[in-house]
Amino acid sequence: MGNFPIKLPVFEAGWVWLVGSGPGDPGLLTLHALNALEQADVVVYDTLVGKDVLKLAAPRARLEYAGKRGGRPSPSQPDISHRLVKLAGEGRRVLRLKGGDPFVFGRGGEEALTLAEAGVPFRVVPGITAAVGGLAYAGIPLTHRDINTAVTFVTGHAASGGVPEQLDWEALARSSPVIVFYMALRHLGVIAGRLMEGGRAPDEPVALISQATTARQRIIESTLADCAADAEAGGITPPALVVVGEVVRLREKIGRNFWPIGPS
Ligand code: SAH
Repeated sequence: MGNFPIKLPVFEAGWVWLVGSGPGDPGLLTLHALNALEQADVVVYDTLVGKDVLKLAAPRARLEYAGKRGGRPSPSQPDISHRLVKLAGEGRRVLRLKGGDPFVFGRGGEEALTLAEAGVPFRVVPGITAAVGGLAYAGIPLTHRDINTAVTFVTGHAASGGVPEQLDWEALARSSPVIVFYMALRHLGVIAGRLMEGGRAPDEPVALISQATTARQRIIESTLADCAADAEAGGITPPALVVVGEVVRLREKIGRNFWPIGPS
């Protein structure tokens, strides 16, 4: 980073950096992420990494897609982890770029374990996770003093393909006034049902935020009882967040004079 007055680390050959790219808007990259993009020889990126973010890679860098793409066979997680080990072994500066934060529902832990076992030196650069970025762009505070003293991030999709069964849904419903679900669209009806069975009111507000922080961001406000039907009728598509809790109601007031930052 040319004339920049802060010295950022040198990306050494043969190292892997696991880097979060944030939820989409390139403005949400960290300086460490930008520094990595400028030095990497190869960028191994996921579906959720914004196209504009990739434009920031050095022109000489090779971009390798490692995500799922409709119809085609996708690389498995062990394939990706081993690919990182191989590229590092060839002496490259390997940037593993992931949507949001690498350690939040991003399987970064698995990649880190493989690198550690293989003896490959690596760093981890956090990113703004979708819940944090998405709610800021939607004008919904994750915590608000009079409403919640805790917030929970939950995946709506377990490795088995269904909703996570090991989760104590009743305890979640009872103890977490605000819940942000990742990967929850497919099972939204079941999830809302579990929360209502656990005592949450059918008219509790819910926000559905798709493609958060990008130019295609869409937000629908609904309720627990109606959110699954509203998501479908409203054409909410992945990636999307589901926000459950009274903080959603603040959006209306905050929105009166709120100009979200975003891609121009
Ligand atoms: N590591 C990522 C999460 C990966 S799991 C992070 O920290 O954000 C993938 C899920 O993240 C998606 O199904 C969706 O629930 C959420 N997500 C990621 N990017 C998003 C975006 N731009 N808008 C809405 N949801 C997003």
